[in-house]
Amino acid sequence: MTSIESLAAVLETHHDADEIARVIDAYEFARDAHTGQFRKTGEEYINHPLETALILADLRLDIHSIQAALLHDTIEDCEDVTFDTIKDRFGEEVAVLVDGVTKLGRIEFETQTQQQSESMRKMLIAMASDIRVILIKLADRLHNMRTLDALPPKTQIEKSRETMEIFAPLAHRLGMSQIKWELEDLAFHHLNPEKYEEISQMVKQSRDERDAYAERVMGEIDVALREVGIEGDIQGRPKHFHSIYQKMINKGKDFSEIYDLLALRIIVDNIKDVYGALGTVHNIYTPMPGRFKDYVAMPKFNMYQSLHTTVIGPVGSPLEIQIRTKEMHRMAEYGVAAHWRYKEGTAAGTFDERLAWLRQMLEWQTELDDPSEFMEELKIDLFQEEVFVFTPTGDVKSLKRGATPLDFAFHIHTEVGFYCVGAKVNGAIVPLGYELQNGDRVEILTNKSTRPSRDWLNIVKTSSARSKIKAYFKKIDHMAVRVTPEELAKRDAKAEPQVAQHPKKRNRRNAGIRIEGLEHPLVKLARCCNPVPGDDIIGFVTRGRGVSVHRKACPNAESLTRSPERMIEVAWDGDPQAVYQVEVMVKAVDRLRLLQDVTALVADAGVDIISSSSYAHPDGMVDMRYLFEMGNLSSLDGIIKDLRGIPGVFEAHRKLPSEAS
Ligand code: MN
Repeated sequence: MTSIESLAAVLETHHDADEIARVIDAYEFARDAHTGQFRKTGEEYINHPLETALILADLRLDIHSIQAALLHDTIEDCEDVTFDTIKDRFGEEVAVLVDGVTKLGRIEFETQTQQQSESMRKMLIAMASDIRVILIKLADRLHNMRTLDALPPKTQIEKSRETMEIFAPLAHRLGMSQIKWELEDLAFHHLNPEKYEEISQMVKQSRDERDAYAERVMGEIDVALREVGIEGDIQGRPKHFHSIYQKMINKGKDFSEIYDLLALRIIVDNIKDVYGALGTVHNIYTPMPGRFKDYVAMPKFNMYQSLHTTVIGPVGSPLEIQIRTKEMHRMAEYGVAAHWRYKEGTAAGTFDERLAWLRQMLEWQTELDDPSEFMEELKIDLFQEEVFVFTPTGDVKSLKRGATPLDFAFHIHTEVGFYCVGAKVNGAIVPLGYELQNGDRVEILTNKSTRPSRDWLNIVKTSSARSKIKAYFKKIDHMAVRVTPEELAKRDAKAEPQVAQHPKKRNRRNAGIRIEGLEHPLVKLARCCNPVPGDDIIGFVTRGRGVSVHRKACPNAESLTRSPERMIEVAWDGDPQAVYQVEVMVKAVDRLRLLQDVTALVADAGVDIISSSSYAHPDGMVDMRYLFEMGNLSSLDGIIKDLRGIPGVFEAHRKLPSEAS
């Protein structure tokens, strides 16, 4: 339990009495507003914002951030508190920060794939008007993770997964290693309790021996540095449990070798000494080839600077050493937060200062060997080009800034675009020309009897939507002059006789696929990628077996398109009787009765399992693959979500076309 006094004590080292009084004012306001509210842990609610503020005070963020941290849940959770209430009492800057955190809090994370998580992270940054909003959000999440035990197990898993997929990478992106590690270890603890416990026991048991070893190595290095006149602060660096675990997985090894658990850090005064210390270390211990990295000359994307080397230590086992200056160390620990730290006599966080960070990153870019990776990483900060919106099912889509619901419709699927008659944003009807905003939830209204309008060319902002509309009208104009639709159908039937003449039993005949101009196409959904309605698809005329339909993203589709004369336009026809096969991949920590739980859940949902397989990895993880057969796909998302809720399950998703079975 912390108190306002302990927060004030932290602030006293860097702030004057007037500023601390403003923090106490914010505290009292929040305390009164949250009166009668309690957390799941049983403690008074105010403890949460207080702890959040304390995390940021430790990072030495400016007073406005600390005030906003104390107030961060008031707009959302307290009836009488609005943006204006906060603005009138604490000023616009604080109000904007609180408002930003409130908006981020309303986003629901239902991430499905790596790519989704990446979009989600970008959207978080894009929505935060001020990077400090993200810092407050990270501190908020960190305290929630510290107190996660009070929540039901299902929520623990969900929050931990979000933390692992979105918040820890975000902290990493911003160079805040302390927060990143703590978030990862807390999430790891809940996602994989057995492994966490095992590693923690192992680290504990070997502590005495390791401490003795650390003392010996640090002593030897200290003597060597003194001899060459370098002042260095040598620290044993605790390895975090999750990083140990990752190493165990990546290198496929056990940590029976306790010396591997030790890593050292040498902090020196200036860059010259960084390289001097490296020479000294390499002089007393043999460096391991290929393990030296110079992140001083070539900083990482998140501004991290340090020399990394691995040497053969005195007992003959590898020893990882990092060498850096105090300033580099400060950046490594606090990342972007270092730029909002309180400075004597200046208002921290001016616009110029915020830009300085970005400018420095841009400058470094020109000095890097491989700027492409850097630019990829930097994109997140140059988000003005994109707008991030949600589908009704919670997927994130990114579109060019300025895009309209009509662009969104074409982005989802060409058919959705053609049949679009209107759009809802956040539940309300909007004009088709509405400019989409970050975080909007967009729903497209369709009607199969409508057709595109030429006015649409003036509405859409993306080139892909524009070219689809143009192609449509080109085709219409072309046909109007040359052939009637009946003639077109006849011609197609002549050219592809095997397609037209295989009427089969009702629900298998066309597999829910429509082909323009063909009455009874014989269609087969390809087994390699199992397309289902909603997927972008292509048709391929086989010899004698009708049209096989692949997902556009199917690796096989690429080789098929080399025979363009056999490609044919196909579309979903919404046949309610069609039956589809869906492959679902599940990743979990293996445990007793895991398979039983998964199978029972699927069976209860009324879905047929056609086949399944599982592979248990030596590290205790298990990969499972299921082939479902289902008619009504609307329950699929719910089933996948429920699968993720099974204890031990990390990940469940529909198999991507690129994924190996
Ligand atoms: Mn909160």
